[in-house]
Amino acid sequence: MNRKKFSDISVDVWTELQRAYDKHVEDNPNRPNLFVSYTILAEEVGEVAKAIIDEHFNGTGTLQELRVELLQVAAMAAEMVAEVDRRCQKTIKTGKK
Ligand SMILES: [Mg+2]
Repeated sequence: MNRKKFSDISVDVWTELQRAYDKHVEDNPNRPNLFVSYTILAEEVGEVAKAIIDEHFNGTGTLQELRVELLQVAAMAAEMVAEVDRRCQKTIKTGKK
C-alpha cells in the first residue's frame, strides 16, 4: 500500500472517529471506557461480517457499505488505543497503575 492511499484512509478513520465521538462520547460520563468501547468494537466487527455476507453471497450489500463498517471498526480501535495511551501517560505522571 502506498503512503498516499494510507493517508487518505487515515483521514476517513479520523472523520469517522470524530463523528462517533460527537454522537456517543462527548456528553457521556461513561466514555471513553475500555469495556464499553470493546463491546462496540465487537458489534462493529460483527457488522463487517454481515456486510461481507450481504455483498458477496446475498447480493444485497455493496463494497461501500463494507468500507463504512471497516472504518467504524478502525475508529473504535483508534479510540481504544487513545484511551490506553491516556492511561499510560497518567501512569507515567503519577507513578500509579
Ligand atoms: Mg456499524
